[in-house]
Amino acid sequence: MKRGKLVVYTGYSGVGKGTIMKVLRELDDSIKLSVSCTTRAPRPEDVEGVSYFFVTQDKFKELINENAFLEYAVFCDNYYGTPEKAVDEMLEQGYNVFLEIEVQGGLQVMDKRPDCVSIFITPPSFEELEKRLRGRGTEDEETIQKRLARALEEKEYEKYYEHKVLNDEAERAAREIIEIIHRDE
Ligand code: 5GP
Repeated sequence: MKRGKLVVYTGYSGVGKGTIMKVLRELDDSIKLSVSCTTRAPRPEDVEGVSYFFVTQDKFKELINENAFLEYAVFCDNYYGTPEKAVDEMLEQGYNVFLEIEVQGGLQVMDKRPDCVSIFITPPSFEELEKRLRGRGTEDEETIQKRLARALEEKEYEKYYEHKVLNDEAERAAREIIEIIHRDE
């Protein structure tokens, strides 16, 4: 069985990564999404073991010490990390595994796994991003401000990504991503 591709899939908070991912999985059954661990509090729509594995800070630190993570980072006061074993198992089964992670983690993966494909999702504009983040209605004002400030910082990292995909429309963006991941097959 041919090993699948590891895809670093990054974009600012509110850019629409989740919506595109939903379309991607409907259109392409070679795609699997890695489930991360996080110390952030679950949102109402979150499902344990599907959106994330929600863990305490102590548990997260224990997992760091056990070398359980392919990468991890702190984002807006919370830890997020990718469990390495599950990712490799899916790759060995031939799946193309997407890591929906922020830039610090993205760079760690590019360093550790140089054969990965890196994709950065961009918004039509920062005004549009703010509108989408507010429209989601899941964060309080302080969190929205933090996430917007973080988006401006993350912009500096865009250049390290091999592919930039504009999220003007979720299905169009998803089709572009599918074309990218199957390009050299
Ligand atoms: P959210 O709290 O909105 O679910 O995620 C916040 C940010 O953390 C997003 O940019 C998301 O892609 C990123 N993220 C989610 N899981 C991981 C992970 O395992 N590692 C890293 N480095 N970032 C992650």
